[in-house]
Amino acid sequence: MTLDPSRLRPATRLVHGGVQRSHHGETAEALFLTSGYVYDDAEQAEATFAGTVEHYQYSRFANPTLTMLEQRLSLIEGAEDCRTTATGMAAVNAALLSHLKAGDRVVAARALFGSCHWIVSTLLPKFGIETEFVDGADLGQWKAALSRPANLVLLETPSNPMLELVDLPAVAELAHAAGAIVVVDNVFATPLLQQPLKLGADVVVYSCTKHMDGQGRVLGGAVLGTKKWINDVLQPFIRNTGPALSPFNAWVLLKGIETLALRVDAACRTAAAIADFLAEQPGVTRVWYPMRADHPQQDLALKQMTGGGTVVTFEVAGGKDGAFRVMNGFQLIAVSNNLGDSKSLATHPATTTHMRIGEQERARLGITDGVIRVSIGLEDPADIQDDLRQAVAGLAGAASVLAAD
Ligand SMILES: *Cc1c(COP(=O)(O)O)cnc(C)c1O
Repeated sequence: MTLDPSRLRPATRLVHGGVQRSHHGETAEALFLTSGYVYDDAEQAEATFAGTVEHYQYSRFANPTLTMLEQRLSLIEGAEDCRTTATGMAAVNAALLSHLKAGDRVVAARALFGSCHWIVSTLLPKFGIETEFVDGADLGQWKAALSRPANLVLLETPSNPMLELVDLPAVAELAHAAGAIVVVDNVFATPLLQQPLKLGADVVVYSCTKHMDGQGRVLGGAVLGTKKWINDVLQPFIRNTGPALSPFNAWVLLKGIETLALRVDAACRTAAAIADFLAEQPGVTRVWYPMRADHPQQDLALKQMTGGGTVVTFEVAGGKDGAFRVMNGFQLIAVSNNLGDSKSLATHPATTTHMRIGEQERARLGITDGVIRVSIGLEDPADIQDDLRQAVAGLAGAASVLAAD
């Protein structure tokens, strides 16, 4: 009674993928909270280290609970292999540092998660790696930057917080012609809404902290790619530098991922409705959501994504004061820089997540002082809408009072 998991549909893979039952026949995935493993005898230990028998050695290299998670993620992504890490940033760092060496060249989209931006702009140049940023939505800039040889391209699509898209097949073609591998941070899309490997990317990275846990409990990361790249390039780096995910957190993620399709589906539907609702509110000057007709890259969104995602970004009148008034008016939505949670969370990027990149870079990315990012949760959509309505109404009221003065 064996089932070929590659024949299963995504929601089923999320529940059954990678399950390896112990001799106890447990229903739920077992938590192997162990750092080491014992061998039957000295010969088995010798053979394990020689690589002639398969046996777990040490949880810095591999652990059965992590293996289940890695196989489930590979199945859902359509990737040959996967390694998990303690955080999303450890995943990005491992993918980059394992592949690059002094003298190499990296081209990255400017609209990156803050810490990814720091690795490219600050860390890599310290080791003699040349880096260049381009506007991710501008194919002309990619073409110019990749007219010279390069080794790695890093991008995020949709981007945080402005939900700007990068044309994955077009950039992958340019990158490959320049000799570079393409690493995609797919956090905002999740593997359910966009599969970068099928669109030409070579490596996909995740912060599992976001939608995969989805309930705000644990940190985690994942890197997915070909078996060859994972084994030859990434695995030695992970094995020897130790960004290992805790088995406990891997177990929490395995259970979280079982409901990923249900949660992302529900949050996406609510997000699309909230984006339309916000666009109608006086005091809201602009809304960004990938599938909306007024998104400058709607065609691209329809081509490479199957849903707009769980995040809605909007701008209110009145700059920072207006945005703070709205954020402080929320009764249900919490002020938090996290995202991909069951609870709806709002952040003011200009003063928090994107404070460090400076005013000039924020202006280039379109992050004005009135911009608010909302990560839509699993509450009843009507309650989220009610909260936004009353918070934004406060803004219109204040504006008319000011105008009357
Ligand atoms: C959160 C996030 C990361 C970093 O992940 P951590 O788990 O917080 O280390 C990287 N990229 C994107 C797009 C993110 O949202």
